[in-house]
Amino acid sequence: MDFKPLREIIEGNQSFVLTTHVNPDADAIGSQIALYLILKKLNKNIRLINFSVTPQNLLFLDFDDVIEHYSPDLHDEVILSSDVIFLLDLNQASRVVKMGDILRKTEKPRICIDHHRDPDDLPNLFFTDDYASATSEILFRFLDETKIVEPDLQIATALYAGIMTDTGAFRYERTSPYTHHVASRLLEYNVDPNDVYESIFEKSNINRINLLGIALASLKMVYDGQLCYMEIRQKDLDSTGANESDVDGFVNYCMTIAGVKIGLLFFELNDGLKISFRSKGTIPINKLAGEYNGGGHFNASGARLYNKKIEDYIPKVIADAEKYLERM
Ligand code: 5GP
Ligand code: MN
Repeated sequence: MDFKPLREIIEGNQSFVLTTHVNPDADAIGSQIALYLILKKLNKNIRLINFSVTPQNLLFLDFDDVIEHYSPDLHDEVILSSDVIFLLDLNQASRVVKMGDILRKTEKPRICIDHHRDPDDLPNLFFTDDYASATSEILFRFLDETKIVEPDLQIATALYAGIMTDTGAFRYERTSPYTHHVASRLLEYNVDPNDVYESIFEKSNINRINLLGIALASLKMVYDGQLCYMEIRQKDLDSTGANESDVDGFVNYCMTIAGVKIGLLFFELNDGLKISFRSKGTIPINKLAGEYNGGGHFNASGARLYNKKIEDYIPKVIADAEKYLERM
């Protein structure tokens, strides 16, 4: 990837808005904070504006407490008047929900740094690689190749958090020799891997575990055990006190069962539903997600449907999934 144009845009402009996707994970927040810290070293004016509030377990990455929660009154003017927009770890307007319209109105560069498939026209400039393990890995490569600033412990921690989580702690398919190389380079800045892991994964509250119990109890197998799915309803959130960000990672339990090739999680939202899609091997689950205007990665995707009923979609998605199994 040629990072020269990215370097030139950064050096040639002064004000930047950085955003990331709804319901952000550690790669979203990690890459956003790392880019913020890079721009800060270059004395730029930077605003970090997200559609979602940062989940509790990722607040430790927001070292300077700079991430703002989007509100049109406070932020539309800021977005329109900034020189450059950065879209981190996302490549479609649907991923910023109600911020999509105002972002589209800007006539400035809308730069996507990302590793997902199937971009739409929200970004107008791309620094992307869908083989990268994480957006944070791409940002490290940018730093390493351009030497635009020297990384420090905070930058390294943010990037490490993104890579560690998006690779499932260095297990998923996109974990390459380069991924481990980057992790090793980041540890040289004194990142504490145990501390990062604990902060993200081992500070759950009991509400999350109670909700996991409900999700696991809902698990069903179809198509001779090749497809496994779970469902979570709003009433389950009410009864446990858990929230949407607590659901992160639940779908992966489907994939721990021998013979399962597709895992699905149906999650009822206030105003619709969210579906998480996972697959093994050569099943392009991003295509199934695409049938519902979603997307993501080859083996891990998602979709959000507004003003739809979960009970209508569970049988429909399961029926639509069958052809992906037959293709094997
Ligand atoms: P998860 O199921 O863990 O929320 O998401 C899995 C992957 O799918 C992530 O890489 C995420 O970026 C992507 N993804 C999740 N929800 C959506 C969505 O509504 N639209 C698109 N395009 N991608 C999604
Ligand atoms: Mn990511």
